[in-house]
Amino acid sequence: MADGGKRDCLRILGIPVDRVTLKETLCRIETFIASGKPHLVVTADATAIVIAHSDANFRSLVESADLVTPDGNGILWAGKYKGHRFAERVSGVDILERLCALSAEKGYRLYFLGAEPGIADLAARQLQAKYPGCKIVGSHHGYFPSDSDIEVAQKIAMTQPDVLFAAMGMPRQEQFIRATEDLIRAKVAMGVGGSFDVYSGKTKRAPILIQRIKLEWLWRLMLNPSKISKVRLLPRFVLLVRKEGR
Ligand code: UDP
Repeated sequence: MADGGKRDCLRILGIPVDRVTLKETLCRIETFIASGKPHLVVTADATAIVIAHSDANFRSLVESADLVTPDGNGILWAGKYKGHRFAERVSGVDILERLCALSAEKGYRLYFLGAEPGIADLAARQLQAKYPGCKIVGSHHGYFPSDSDIEVAQKIAMTQPDVLFAAMGMPRQEQFIRATEDLIRAKVAMGVGGSFDVYSGKTKRAPILIQRIKLEWLWRLMLNPSKISKVRLLPRFVLLVRKEGR
C-alpha cells in the first residue's frame, strides 16, 4: 500500500481482508483523499470472497485494492473460526453515510453511480437533507453496457469527484472502477452494492433486532427473492473456509 499505514490483513480463501473498524476505515479513506492519487476500496462479504476464489480476474482486482473491509456476518464468522477476530462489520452502507457527514464538514466531493434510473439521485437528495452541505456533485444510473463505460466515465470526470461510489453489484462495480480510474481520477472509488436503494427508501434495512440475531440476509431474501443465487453461495463459503482450516 502506497499510503495510509501498514495493513493488518487476515487471508480468507487466500483473499486479504483488512482487520479494520469503521473509524479506522474512515481515517484511511481520508488519508487516501489527501494523497491525491486513485485508490480502490472493496467492501468484501462472503459472496465477494467466493466470487474472488473462483474468478481469477476479480481475485487480482481485490488483491490489488488499497483496503478490503470485512462486510458481513460470514466474514466475521470466518475471522472467529480462524482465531483472528474482526472487531466489527464495516459495510458500504455505513461508510457511505459517514462520508456524507464528512463531506458536509470538510467539503469532499462525492459522486453516486449506480442503481435504477432516479434512485441514485433520490438517495443523494435524502442524504443531503440529512447532512446539509454534503457535496454530492453528480449521479448516474447503473444500467448501461460496458461498452459505454468510457462515455459515462467522461461525464463523471467533468464533476471532479474526490470519492466515487459505484453501486452496480459485484464484480461489475469494481471492474468499472478499475477500467476508468485513470480517466475519472477520483482519489477513492468503492463499490457499495445496494446502498442507494437503501438511502432512497427503495429497500429498507432489516430491523435492528433482525440484524442483531444475524438474519439480515433472510430479511433481504424475503424482500427480493432474486437474491437467492447470492444466498446459495453462503453454504459454499462456510464449506470452503472449513476446508481451508485455521
Ligand atoms: N445494478 C446496476 N446495474 C446493473 C445491475 C445492478 O446499477 O447492471 C444495481 C441494482 O439496481 C442495485 C445494485 O446494483 O441497486 C446491486 O445491489 P445488490 O443488492 O445486488 O448488491 P450487493 O450489495 O448484494 O452486492
